[in-house]
Amino acid sequence: MSSTQTTCPYCGVGCGIIAQTDSTKSVTIQGDKSHPANFGKLCSKGIALSGTLGLEGRLLHPEIDNNSCDWNTALDKVATEFKQIIEQYGPQAIAFYVSGQLLTEDYYVANKLMKGFIGAGNIDTNSRLCMSSSLSGYKRAFGSDTVPGNYEDVEQSDLVVLVGSNLAWCHPILFQRLMIAKEKHPNQKIVVIDPRHTATCEIADTHLAIKAGSDIWLFNGLLDFLRHNDYLDYEYLEQATDGFAAAFQTARESSGSISGISQRTGLEEEQILEFFQLFADNKKVVTLYSQGVNQSTSGTDKVNSIINCHLATGRLGQVGMGPFSMTGQPNAMGGREVGALANQLASHMDFSAEHCDLVQEFWQASNIATSPGLKAIDLFNAVHAGEVKAIWIMATNPVVSLPNANLVKQALAECELVIVSDCVRDNDTTAHANVLFPTLAWGEKNGTVTNSERRISRQRTFLPAPAETKADWWILSQVAQRMGYEKAFAYNSSADIFREYVALSGYKNEGTRDFDLSGLLPFSDEEYQALKPVQWPICDSSEHCTGLRGTERMFADKRFFTSSGKAQFISITPRPPASLPDIKFPFVLNTGRIRDQWHTMTRTGIARLLRHTGESYVEIHPNDAQTANINHGSLVTVSSRLGKWMGRAKLTTNQQMGNLFIPMHFNSQTSNCARVDVLVAPHTDPISGQPEFKHTPVKISAYRPIWQGFILSKQPLTLPTKDIDYSVKILSDNCWRYELAGETKPDNWNLWLHHNFGANLEWLEYQDRANGCYNYANLIQDRLNICMFIGKDENLPNRHGLIQLFTRDKLTPAERLALLTGHNDEHRNNTICACFNVGHNELVAAIKEYDLKTVAQIGEKIQAGSNCGSCIPELKALLK
Ligand code: SF4
Repeated sequence: MSSTQTTCPYCGVGCGIIAQTDSTKSVTIQGDKSHPANFGKLCSKGIALSGTLGLEGRLLHPEIDNNSCDWNTALDKVATEFKQIIEQYGPQAIAFYVSGQLLTEDYYVANKLMKGFIGAGNIDTNSRLCMSSSLSGYKRAFGSDTVPGNYEDVEQSDLVVLVGSNLAWCHPILFQRLMIAKEKHPNQKIVVIDPRHTATCEIADTHLAIKAGSDIWLFNGLLDFLRHNDYLDYEYLEQATDGFAAAFQTARESSGSISGISQRTGLEEEQILEFFQLFADNKKVVTLYSQGVNQSTSGTDKVNSIINCHLATGRLGQVGMGPFSMTGQPNAMGGREVGALANQLASHMDFSAEHCDLVQEFWQASNIATSPGLKAIDLFNAVHAGEVKAIWIMATNPVVSLPNANLVKQALAECELVIVSDCVRDNDTTAHANVLFPTLAWGEKNGTVTNSERRISRQRTFLPAPAETKADWWILSQVAQRMGYEKAFAYNSSADIFREYVALSGYKNEGTRDFDLSGLLPFSDEEYQALKPVQWPICDSSEHCTGLRGTERMFADKRFFTSSGKAQFISITPRPPASLPDIKFPFVLNTGRIRDQWHTMTRTGIARLLRHTGESYVEIHPNDAQTANINHGSLVTVSSRLGKWMGRAKLTTNQQMGNLFIPMHFNSQTSNCARVDVLVAPHTDPISGQPEFKHTPVKISAYRPIWQGFILSKQPLTLPTKDIDYSVKILSDNCWRYELAGETKPDNWNLWLHHNFGANLEWLEYQDRANGCYNYANLIQDRLNICMFIGKDENLPNRHGLIQLFTRDKLTPAERLALLTGHNDEHRNNTICACFNVGHNELVAAIKEYDLKTVAQIGEKIQAGSNCGSCIPELKALLK
């Protein structure tokens, strides 16, 4: 058994993992008890990582135009065509779109190639979509992109304000740390500010169900309240800040009276005053925010309206306090540090003449970029307009994840040269690639990542590289060398790259830049391999840094990286979202993550993680649903000015009237109509360039096909397109499940089945033409091979019971009957606990039968909630 310490590849919590590999190459995943982010805990996604390590669906060989080729051919093609394009159109005609999935070393090489040698700023990362507003807000306030605090502050505060953050689902282990802290410290207060009632609200003392997009009115109002009720820290204001008077004046004028704030935010006056008083009464306040703040055309302003309140009261730089942004991806922070956003140069330096000279000198760059490149939305617009002739996409799936996703798809379809580096063969973006580069996947990679609290951790290799897969940095270096930059890209290992990166961070720094790792130098390959998790800055030459063991907390010294050395208040005038609902599109659509999925599902689409949610849905308030004649579980269409989406309706009072929520993950590989970003307009924050994913005007209506049904099949099927207008493919524990609906139907279902899926020897069939009902099952040697149930609406048999029949060696007569009638005893429906596969109905029955009162009792009785803990908020909600 060999054991490797590594880091989870999913969210920005950055949990440490121990991967144990036995002699049969089977891998066991456990939380790393010594890692300071998670102390041994893992959420449902982290714990399921061992199920994602297989080679099914992997891209294993380089390809040109869908044909396998050798590495030399693929690399030469890209290098040659890049050189031709640069010669003909200039360096701005090339772009890289990279990802928070890349390791810091990969990011560093990509950024160096684009900004130092190709000579354009056109490299942007998908982190633009999740946290660029936080970056802009920090830079405006502190003069640097510095997260001041750490996870311990969240635990040690007296008040945690969670703004636009469903921490329970999006950052589950930090949520669990907070949950435990609150249990130990019952006086700790938690306020959730979110238009939706999410799983996070289960531990909140107060949920402020604010109107979507109105956060700034609330925080400007708070600043006004703090000033008028004399809660300011005057000494801090004097010593550490500039610009309070102007910021206060703007806040006062824009927020107005409490009744005005109430009107703007939709909150009761009493609720608002209670929150303001709570903030004022607690010195130790952490305001933790995430995509609900960032993904807005006012995202940067929202961040600064929060920071203003912390600066005004000196709630910064000490234990248990500070504004705290949670990043979405495992290495979004690494991308920020490297400088792989189009408006950064490198290593927390920008495009000033001084920094351009410094970086050019350090890299010995032949063609340093001197101005920012195109941010994500502009970059794909430029591809669409034909201005960018070649785009290299690494480890991300923009055809699913970017707003106006159909335009992105069209842009790639028409682009002269699309290169995609990925570990996955088939996704919505690889479908448009002229050149495919096969990359290493998580367990094969070697490098570093940074989590949301500035902690650098190692991702280490514990699996061999399969077939012809290569590290991203190797592929980039090879292309660079073939373009003529041999010396600058002569890396032999990720340790080589990290050494250079660390040296750049300290180069002519002398305390002028927050990001400084130079205290790590010199280090050997062995020391790099053994690097322990550490928070930057790491140096002994800067007053900002607490030394070679890293820095837990920044700004305790009240000194910032602005020209005056003081933190800056920003005057914020609130403004509404870019587009508002109207008669034609009366609903506000919010998009976001669900508990067990990650990004566009390319790595989390495994049976275990699809148990909780396998089919996309839209959350709608029951009153809105009633008005639109929509039932729970029925099919609906949601449309915006840009596109149309289809899925199931989920009626819930967690949603405010007039608001809808759709998960962001679903893609065209698994559904013909569930890419939600075809609806979202590409409106962006003017400073950060971050798109407004949380506020799209849409309409919703019931979708009434003439038939609905599902197929369960032992083998994956290729579905015909004729007669099928809605289709979803879900990998289940023992079979594939297909949810289907159509506006036309075949004359004969039996013929349709045999025509599309082959003739089979033994089948059972039941038909009720009057009720539009057709049930079919095919058996091979007494084992269930495929079954199909068709009806006229969504009232179809329980899938869970039928799925269980695929495990049987021989079906009993009763089970055969169940295949004909669809009736089965299975009472499980929505899976709540994915670890032990325990469903909602099973839980409700157990709670009633055994009179269970606590999550621990549920765990003892039926195991649910006793492993990763990700379902605990849902268990608490059920107990309530
Ligand atoms: Fe991974 Fe879950 Fe930890 Fe996030 S919280 S890093 S997804 S184990």
